[in-house]
Amino acid sequence: QIQRALRSLSVPLERLHIMKGHMMQDMCKGLSLQTHTQAKVRMLPTYICSTPNGTEKGNFLVVELCQTQVRILLVTLYGDGNMSPQMMYKIFDLPEGIRQGEGEALFDFIAQCVTQFLAETTSPETNGSEGRLPLAFVFPFTCQQTQLNKAELISWSKGYSCSGVVGNDVVQLLQAAINKQTVGAGSNEEGGRWWRGWRPSTPDQSSSHIEVVALMNDTVGTMMTCSTEGRPCEVAVIADKGSNCCFMAEAYLVETAEETSGRMCVNTEWGCFGDDGSLNDIITPYDESVDEESSNPGEKRFEKLVGTLYLGEIARHALIGLTAEKALFTGTDASVLKEKGVFTTQHILDIINNEDSTTEVRRVLEALGLQPSERDCGRVQQICRAVVGRAATLHATGLAAILSYMCQTREMEQLMVNVGMEGDLYEGYHRFEEILLSVARLLSPECIATILPSRDGSGRGAAVVTAVALRLAAQRQEVNELLAPLRLTLADLEKVQALMRQEMERGLGKATHANASVRMLPSYVCHTPDGTERGDFLALDLGGTNFRVLMVRVTEEGISMASEIYVIPPPIMQGTGEALFDHIMECIMDFQRKQNMMLQLLPLGFTFSFPCQQMGLDKALLLTWTKGFSASDCVGKDVVLLLRQAAERKQHTALKVVALVNDTVGTMMSCGYDDPKCEVGLIVGTGTNACYMEEMRNVGTVEGDQGRMCINMEWGAFGDNGCLDHIFTQFDKLVDDSTINPGKQRFEKLVSGMYLGEIVRQVLLEMTQRQLLFQGRHCTTLQTKNIFQTKFLSTIELSNGLALRQIRAILQELELDASFEDSLLMREVCQAVSLRAAQLCAAGLAAVVEKMRENRGLDNMSVSVGVDGTLYKLHPCFSQNLQKTLKELAPNCNVTFLLSEDGSGKGAALVAAVATR
Ligand code: ADP
Ligand code: MG
Repeated sequence: QIQRALRSLSVPLERLHIMKGHMMQDMCKGLSLQTHTQAKVRMLPTYICSTPNGTEKGNFLVVELCQTQVRILLVTLYGDGNMSPQMMYKIFDLPEGIRQGEGEALFDFIAQCVTQFLAETTSPETNGSEGRLPLAFVFPFTCQQTQLNKAELISWSKGYSCSGVVGNDVVQLLQAAINKQTVGAGSNEEGGRWWRGWRPSTPDQSSSHIEVVALMNDTVGTMMTCSTEGRPCEVAVIADKGSNCCFMAEAYLVETAEETSGRMCVNTEWGCFGDDGSLNDIITPYDESVDEESSNPGEKRFEKLVGTLYLGEIARHALIGLTAEKALFTGTDASVLKEKGVFTTQHILDIINNEDSTTEVRRVLEALGLQPSERDCGRVQQICRAVVGRAATLHATGLAAILSYMCQTREMEQLMVNVGMEGDLYEGYHRFEEILLSVARLLSPECIATILPSRDGSGRGAAVVTAVALRLAAQRQEVNELLAPLRLTLADLEKVQALMRQEMERGLGKATHANASVRMLPSYVCHTPDGTERGDFLALDLGGTNFRVLMVRVTEEGISMASEIYVIPPPIMQGTGEALFDHIMECIMDFQRKQNMMLQLLPLGFTFSFPCQQMGLDKALLLTWTKGFSASDCVGKDVVLLLRQAAERKQHTALKVVALVNDTVGTMMSCGYDDPKCEVGLIVGTGTNACYMEEMRNVGTVEGDQGRMCINMEWGAFGDNGCLDHIFTQFDKLVDDSTINPGKQRFEKLVSGMYLGEIVRQVLLEMTQRQLLFQGRHCTTLQTKNIFQTKFLSTIELSNGLALRQIRAILQELELDASFEDSLLMREVCQAVSLRAAQLCAAGLAAVVEKMRENRGLDNMSVSVGVDGTLYKLHPCFSQNLQKTLKELAPNCNVTFLLSEDGSGKGAALVAAVATR
């Protein structure tokens, strides 16, 4: 019989695995918006989104409502890693009957305790509390929280049943009671109130008023108490009268709260696990008896297996059962066991903590009025050990579910995590931790938990939570202020659009052309392809990251190409023009050799992506270098001639340059080959630029009024005349200053790939300096120019709430030691910078398409834009943001975006083809 009883109290490993699975399912159910109302494990959001980093400082009041007491603490944090906070506290016993009385009386009593405490406490220095004394309220009951300082009580427990509280905001109730305690006339200008008991030691404290800024469950307080600098604690388990657990969940999974980025602490309320029957097959007849005799039968089934409020009762029922079966106390009177509550958890702990001898067992049992034999003593000890061992094992199973869930949702292969522990079972049972860890390890081998005992209860943690909340609020405000200049309103964008339009008109006008920042260069390309073009062509593409030479074959079946990429080393980019064009010729000859076409004389189209004053299709004066090029003796020269001269120097005769085009034009042409509506070209790569088909009558810089001509806008220089000064930020100025062409290509420097990483880097530097990032730690890598590449923006913005691993990887590469919060902040910076770039690009494009629509006298116009450039193509949000903003700015244009594949090469060949046609 004893063996049978012991077996029923021991849960086999397979069964624990199943239970862990159920727990995980219930957790998901509790977090999901659709199912949470039916969930037994409620998974309540706490609105605590950050663990402390040790920089928190100031004075904090904490009110802890406990089983029979109110504890008031004054905690002073020094920003020293929370290692040695100063704490003063006082405990007040709750008056008889107050737990079952009116809610108002309870809160009035708490407020009085606060008054009395502050009256007796000499106030410490208030550094940084700015006239208010923040208060954290530890309220260990089930609440529906909607903010850190807004929490409706769902239900009382632990012997409380005050009227008029369930369904109300507990924070408000406490704040109202506190306000009642203050001197009526003493309202200060901030709308706060003077505190009668608070004796300020310095004048500026006189305006201190108490503000309830945070409410939290005791579990959360414990988690925060255990967290210190460099050792964040992300799980807490309370193994006490009741049982509960909280942990840091990925915020996007907490569907019941709006927060979607970062993490949020979730109060599991796992005591109710099993209320839907999922624990039925491990529940023993003793547990059933305990449940039936409790005040809430059928509820909190998990808690009733593991809480110290119940362990004595479980053992008592086991002993009653075994006595009835004559396996215990035979021949003696054991009727004392019938009395509810005679056998307590403390008795059990006394009995089992002395494993080697039975003297303690005998003492306990005899004190209860029993007359145990030696055999009874041994058996009672075994039963007690089984009951408590099971409680530890089930705690471990719950913990394992939490750990595996965290590991899975963070997409980690292995999770290392600190677990804060507190409660009389944990503290009272010497094998608790050992069982907890070993069973959790068996059930979740992918997770490694380290237990951090909470010595100070939840009070210090509550103060820290409050401190973190205030720090984050202050930080958030500073971040918002810092990023505000980068965030453009629709009105800002409309203004940019209008300015672009104005500059376009100026660039087209014969008289105004010379002073326009947008140069509107005629390309001498007057037709988009019609699909009848045929032949073999040579093409060059210079002006981007790579220099390419191509062979393009245009046939009835389509276009086929062969190409080679060549590097232009920076010394050549910035050396002499002769060297640059010699290098280009060598690349061409190398390509022709490789293609076995040294002697073929093919028409050549040259994509040359720098601003040129075109005199004809094959005559183009370089106006200025951009994008890091600065080869000497080229500006003002005919680029086609420079290439021909280089060919002569190399005695290479098989070269017939027929057309020079900008890459925007090439892109438009290549997309135009497939879509006749394609009359705009856009580049968003290293640089940015656009072209479009303009009416000849509007082009004041070229003779003739008939038909259209493609205009290479050179919009990268938009703003070089100062018209965009109002949107440049300090970051943009810093970036501009460090380029080889300060003051030039101002629009490009807000939009294109060569600069976005640099802008982000400047923002990050400023944030670091203001201690908003990396806890203000100085990092030399970030000081290195171009260390933060634009492709990082893509990676960082791609990582959603699911995993910030990519961010971490990048930061590690940069030797930056970033916290989770740092990663989120960096993503926010990247998003702000790339969003602005996309929106500005949209404003420019809106000016273009609207002008085309007006040119053609249409109410609505459909047009296609051929786009090239790696930023546009690879950034996860750029194109979406661009298109969305364009719709808002040019609602009467229906714009389709076509991705150009190999546009510059293909386009140059097509220009050559159209020209030869
Ligand atoms: P180019 O404009 O020089 O012809 P690309 O269109 O390929 O060449 O653009 C190259 C630029 O694109 C790089 O300078 C870089 O700033 C940016 N870039 C490269 N990879 C990415 C990426 N994954 N996401 C966003 N931008 C990128
Ligand atoms: Mg390009």
